[in-house]
Order: sequence, then C-alpha cells, then structure tokens
Amino acid sequence: MSNLSLIYDYSKEELREILQEWDEPAYRVEQLWRGLYQSLWNNPDQFTVFPKSLRYRLSEQFAFESIFPQRETFADRGQTRKVLFQTQQGNPIETVLMQAGERHTLCISSQSGCGMGCVFCATGKMGFLANLTSGQIIEQVLYFVRLTRSENQTLSNIVVMGMGEPFHNFEQTLRALDRLNDPSGFCFGERRFTISTVGIVPMIREFARLRRQINLAISLHAADNELRSQLVPINRKYPIETLIEACRDYVKLTNRRISFEWVLIENLNDSFEQAQRLGSLLKGFLCHVNLIPLNPTPGYAGKAPSKKRILEFKKVLEQHHIPCTVRIPRGISIHAGCGQLAVFHQEQFH
Ligand code: SAH
Ligand code: SF4
Repeated sequence: MSNLSLIYDYSKEELREILQEWDEPAYRVEQLWRGLYQSLWNNPDQFTVFPKSLRYRLSEQFAFESIFPQRETFADRGQTRKVLFQTQQGNPIETVLMQAGERHTLCISSQSGCGMGCVFCATGKMGFLANLTSGQIIEQVLYFVRLTRSENQTLSNIVVMGMGEPFHNFEQTLRALDRLNDPSGFCFGERRFTISTVGIVPMIREFARLRRQINLAISLHAADNELRSQLVPINRKYPIETLIEACRDYVKLTNRRISFEWVLIENLNDSFEQAQRLGSLLKGFLCHVNLIPLNPTPGYAGKAPSKKRILEFKKVLEQHHIPCTVRIPRGISIHAGCGQLAVFHQEQFH
C-alpha cells in the first residue's frame, strides 16, 4: 500500500504552499488545479505543461488514485450504472449514475458502510467500516465525469445519498463539495448538490449556520417517535420535535426549501393517519416531500405499498398543500436503488 498522500485531499491553498516551498513559480498552482479539476488528469505524466522534474516530484509526493474500480454493473437499459470501488485500505464504496432524459444524477458515498442501523437499509446492515476522505469523495465524481465526458454528456446533479451518513463525516463531505464548487476548478454550482441526512440535529444546525446553497434532504419516514425510533434508531437521540425544530430554524436562517424523504413501507408508515400527521407536522413549512417506495433489501421483510396506496398517501399531503413527488425506482436489478448499496465481505472482490 502506498503511503503517498492523495492529491485530491488538498485544497488549492495547501497545494499553493507546497509549490511555493518547492520554489515553483506562482502560476504553477493554477496549472495544477486546472489539470486536476478541468482536464481531469489523474496521472502526473499528463501534466506536460510541467518540466519533467516537477512531474517526477509530484509522482514522488502524491498519489493520484486511492479508490479502485472493481466492478461495473448496468440496469434500466444502460441508464443506471453502478461502480464498486475498493479503497486503498480495502473498504468497499459504491457510486451510482442515473440518467433520465437529459439529466444525469450522480449518487455518491460519504462513508464505507454506515453505523446508523436503519432497519430497512442494506448499507446499515453492513455496519460502519470507514469515513471517506474529501479526496475519496471527489474521486468518485471525477471517475464518472471522465466517463460521461467521453460520451459527450454532462452531470446535472450530485447527491450525497449513497453509502453512509454524510453528517457523520461532515467536515470531509463539505470539504469535498467545496473543492468541487471552486470556480477556478471543477466549478459545479452549489445548488446542484444535495446532502441527505438521517437527522443528526447538531450538524443540521451547524450546516444552517454556514448558510450554504447546497440542498438539504432529511430522511423522516415516520411522523411519531414510536414508529420513527423503530425504523431509524438515531431518533432515540434526536426525536422528531427536535429534528423539526432544527429544520424550521434552517429554513428561517437560509430561506431554502428542505426535502423530506419518506420510504413507504406497506402497513407500517403508509396509513392515512401517518399521512395526516405528516401533513400537520409540516404545516406552513417551505418544503417538499419525496416518497420512496421501499426497495427490497436482504434481511428486511417489508414491502412497498401498492400504487393505489402510494397515491392515496400523496393525496393527503397535497390536501395539506405540501408539494410531493414519488421517486421512481431505479437500478433495482443491480441493487443500485436507495438503501440497496451494500457489499458484504463474503461476496467481496471475488
Ligand atoms: N444516510 C443518509 C443518506 C444515504 S441513504 C440518509 O439516510 O439520508 C439515502 C436515502 O435512501 C435515504 O432517504 C434512506 O432513507 C433511503 N433508503 C434507505 N433504505 C431504503 C430502502 N430499502 N428503500 C428505499 N429507500 C431507502
Ligand atoms: Fe445509514 Fe442512511 Fe442507510 Fe440509515 S438510511 S443506515 S443513515 S445510509
């Protein structure tokens, strides 16, 4: 295993300092940054604008790759593709690209596995394996952009909804998005990012204080504490009232709409009563509800409700004037749907 530090873990300022220490002219950092984030070079040899000695020094000092693609799978007639990577430390990560018409949404992971243990989620079943560094989060994006670019397509959105709980790896996740947002580099607009959290209240508050333009999605799934704690164990620590209060403060502070995600499970949280309660809970909220029919995962017996039942649930929310959409399942045949990302050790990398 290489001990070199990953170049994508460094901010532009940090790289500037290093190049200064190496007595390189000031413009080198701009060239390096453009090479990494505009030309998407991931090998020092590609930096032909640099003298050979500098290319050599970069290769001696930095790694340009730390997550390695192991397997690529396709579904939905090629419109959904999932890549399994292995980190240098041997941890699995999955990343999914979904195409719908002209739109290309990339779903990235913030952790390998997840420690939150939501009962219906396959990533939760894996347990927590590792936090990803900002550079490893960035590498997932650059890998897919190299692919889409070669097919003359561009990414429309990046959602941090893959493996892991991003607000449990807050600093690295935000550093990654900041670096991807940098106008002199990758220049991906803040409003095209979405972070989805299970509801880590102190981090929602911290995120609100930063007043970022990044979209926020909250995985709610139930409108009363008894049911939510059963589905999402972290609810015992941050119950619904505290969560909703933090969300209301977020909207007040940022003036930005929040999305609430609700995985619909037959005979569990798909009742008229839950819909009514959700309607009252979100009354007057600048928000949007995303209904996600449950995707099947190993070890969880729940099922998605019928289409009729889903539409009835949606109708109740609309009667409460809450904008609401139903997420179309994608990538199910290759376990690339929401909550299906999991790599179990016995099936790993064989
Ligand atoms: N940890 C974060 C982000 C990753 S999960 C979070 O929980 O928000 C991304 C979304 O997939 C969440 O809304 C989650 O509730 C949902 N999800 C998890 N398991 C699912 C399943 N089996 N079917 C459908 N959606 C699921
Ligand atoms: Fe973790 Fe999100 Fe899955 Fe819950 S739903 S176990 S928070 S990845």
